[in-house]
Amino acid sequence: MKAIPAGVTVISHPLVRVKLTRMRDERTQPAEFRARLAELAKLLIFEATRDLETRPETIRTPLAEHEGASLARPIIVVPILRAGLGMAEAIMQLLADASVGHIGMKRDEHTHRPASYYFNMPGHLPDADVIVVDPMMATGHSASAAVAKLKESGARRIRFVCCVSCPEGLAQFHDSHPDVPVFTAAVDAGLNENAYIVPGLGDAGDRGFGTPA
Ligand code: URA
Repeated sequence: MKAIPAGVTVISHPLVRVKLTRMRDERTQPAEFRARLAELAKLLIFEATRDLETRPETIRTPLAEHEGASLARPIIVVPILRAGLGMAEAIMQLLADASVGHIGMKRDEHTHRPASYYFNMPGHLPDADVIVVDPMMATGHSASAAVAKLKESGARRIRFVCCVSCPEGLAQFHDSHPDVPVFTAAVDAGLNENAYIVPGLGDAGDRGFGTPA
């Protein structure tokens, strides 16, 4: 197995592995797939936000003054359309004050490289902790292009969260963005000839939205 690049955290908590197994199972129907994806996203975000900076916030409980904490910066969650939407909605239940930016990526038929067809970000991108979410990091090209576009638009603190990745995609992404940490539930064996992750879980968008080709 190829080495996993620096900056990649594999979150192999038992609950993560159990939920991902249900998502991988070809018998799992869209409703269950979406439910497990939402749960998995929350578990992953818990780990992926472990080092977020906080600042002291003094409040009063009913009994005494207490020095607690609030997040140092606003958070922007950025799903890559369309499969990332299921993760973003779940994450917003934990990060209610976060904003959401959307990136649509599609493959250019001539260059076979991803091109952005939709990019809509909140204005405070440069000041925010930005969390990009996509269930799959396959070739790594979409992820790299999405992060490049975010950087061009001023994002300075970016992390990437996915459910399934593979060595090729992680290496590609690391070469393009060594400064962006990646959090993944699994690093699978590799890609097939159609750039699908094997064993993977199939097309995450199709599985979640019930639109198999
Ligand atoms: N996108 C998916 O949804 N699945 C893969 O295996 C690769 C890319």
